[in-house]
This record gives sequence, structure tokens and C-alpha cells, in this order.
Amino acid sequence: MRALLVEKSEDGAPQASVQYIDESRLPEGEVTVAVEYSTLNYKDGLCIGPGGGLVRNYPHVPGIDFAGTVETSDDSRFRPGDKVVLTGWRVGEAHWGGYAQKARVKADWLVPLPDGLDTRQAMAVGTAGLTAMLAVMALEDHGLTPEQAPVLVTGASGGVGSVAIALLARLGHEVAAVTGRPENADYLKDLGATEIVARDELAEPSRKPLEGERWSGCVDAVAGAILGRALKQMKYGTSVAAVGLAGGAAIEGALITPFLLRGVNLLGIDSVLQPYDNRRRAWDRIARDLPLEKLETMVETARLEDLPELGARILKGQVKGRVIVDVN
Ligand code: NDP
Repeated sequence: MRALLVEKSEDGAPQASVQYIDESRLPEGEVTVAVEYSTLNYKDGLCIGPGGGLVRNYPHVPGIDFAGTVETSDDSRFRPGDKVVLTGWRVGEAHWGGYAQKARVKADWLVPLPDGLDTRQAMAVGTAGLTAMLAVMALEDHGLTPEQAPVLVTGASGGVGSVAIALLARLGHEVAAVTGRPENADYLKDLGATEIVARDELAEPSRKPLEGERWSGCVDAVAGAILGRALKQMKYGTSVAAVGLAGGAAIEGALITPFLLRGVNLLGIDSVLQPYDNRRRAWDRIARDLPLEKLETMVETARLEDLPELGARILKGQVKGRVIVDVN
């Protein structure tokens, strides 16, 4: 089978290349899946390249998500021919992942492909899109309704941001999109953004305890100063779903004031260990609520050979929307 294998070179630096490897090298697991599509996420950029403390052992096959067809299964929940999706569980980091024609994983990690999506569409959504859905669900569970406006989405041109905008717009929300790439404004408006906010406007940490109330909800993919500013601009009693750290791991300039004086909630979103029932609920909501024609506009298709370059680009914030990897 063909796979993107990352090996340690003589100087200790990870080197990724496409190789033919024997299926017997696949790790242990109850289910073997013939992978059809994988994708590119920020974490994949780390696992293809520097490792980022995520990869446990080399040689390694990255790919934190995939969709395909069950080939063999020792678990009664899955049978040969079943279509399945995998995201999370540290697959592609601690366990070999989806950048190969086959993957072997635990049955507990797999979700049946939701009705209404094929394997390519499921990977157009991928981990980034599933996480965007989990963020929107968390905001809804904490009272967000379309009557309150607008919802702020940061890291807008990225995978999480693009899917969050399309989902929120389809659900009837006004969406303000924060981007550092003004040239993507038309793309973001086509997805459903009603307002474009320049990243520079929020890039400097504020010393103020609070700023004017602007946002009724927020899906934040970047953290850093932008999350610190967004928290101080939230309307009374609203929530921020913290998803990512594309702009830094700290919340710069953050104070306790938005929580105490405005009852703002900061909701942590984790897709990796998300319980099975909520994962199913999120995939069903995606099949129902994500406009598939919008999904197509945010997708680019790549091959295994393209991944070393694409991995470096996503780490520099240069990838737009979602990248699907056709592993065959
Ligand atoms: P992408 O690289 O596709 O998107 C990130 C976007 O953030 C970029 O497109 C860019 O958007 C913006 N950005 C990049 N660098 C900076 C910066 N220095 N400061 C401010 N904004 C920046 O990544 P994903 O959408 O796939 O993932 C986003 C984040 O979410 C990552 O940190 C990822 O690790 C995390 N994540 C977390 C998950 C979870 O389970 N919690 C699951 C999936 C992802 P623009 O050019 O429009 O400004």
C-alpha cells in the first residue's frame, strides 16, 4: 500500500516521503479500513513536519482523520463494506493515521458515515468541520439563537472558520468574520459572512477591563490577543467557544472582568476525545445543516505527494478552506 511515511533523517529532522509499505506494518486494531479520503488540518502540518510533541514514534504515518470502507473487522459493530469516518483519538499522532491506502484502528474510534454524506464530503468537513459544528452546538446549548447578532468567527479563512461561517449563516445567524487576509473577503461573504473584521483591528491586547458590547457569540480558532479582545467585547450573558490556537497558546490581555461583570462564558471545545453520542449528534447535524454547495467552494483536492509542501503552508496560515487528500 502507498503511504506518506515520516522518518527521522540522520540529523534527527523528520522527513516525509511517499513510499510503498507492507500492510503487515499497520498497527494493532480491530478494524482495517480501505481509506478513500483524508484531509489536511493544522495538527497534520505539525505531524508531517516538526512533530510538535504530538508524534510518539517514527517512522510515522500522519493523517488525523479519514473516511473509507471497512475491509475486515473483528468487532460486531462493523462489517466489510460499511462506510466509516474517523476523527480524533490521537490517530495520525500517537497511532498511524489516514495518509495511506489502509488504516487499522480500534472499533470504538469509528463512526458510521452519516446519511446524506459520501466519504469525500465527510472529509471536506473533516476534523476542522466537525469541531466547528461542536462549537456551534455548544453555543446553542448556552442560549445562542439567530435573533441575537452578530456571531464573531476568528481564523475565518481556515478550515474551522470557513465551516463555522457556512453553518452559522445557514442557521440564520449574522456572521462577522475576522481575517488577516483581506483578499479573502469575497470568499468569506460567499460562505455567508455579513461583515469582515480586519485582524489588525483586534490584534493588539487591550488594557481596558471591558470594551463596547459587540458580539452575541464567538467561535475562536486563534486565541492570543484576538481572544482577549473578543472576550471584552461580548454582549451580556453570551458565550465564546474556544477551539484553536492558530495565533498563540495564551489569551493575551485577558482579565476576569468579562466573566464577572457580563456573565460571559468561555466554552472549551475538544474534538479528540469527544464522546461517541455527541460525535454522532454532530455528524447528523452536519449532514442536515451544512450547505453542501458551500462546502464545495471551500475545498481543494491534493495527493499524498503534495502533503510535505501543504503541511508547511498550513503552519504558516497560508491554506484557505479545506484540503481533501485523495490517498489513492
Ligand atoms: P487553519 O490553518 O486552516 O486556519 C487557521 C486560520 O487562523 C488561518 O487560516 C488564518 O485565518 C488564521 N490565523 C493564522 N495565523 C494566525 C495568527 N498568527 N493570528 C491570528 N490568526 C491567524 O487551521 P484549522 O482551521 O484547521 O484549525 C484552527 C485551529 O483550531 C488550530 O489551532 C487547530 O489546532 C485547532 N483545532 C482544534 C480542534 C479541537 O478539537 N479543539 C480541532 C481542530 C482544530 P485568516 O487568514 O482568515 O486570518
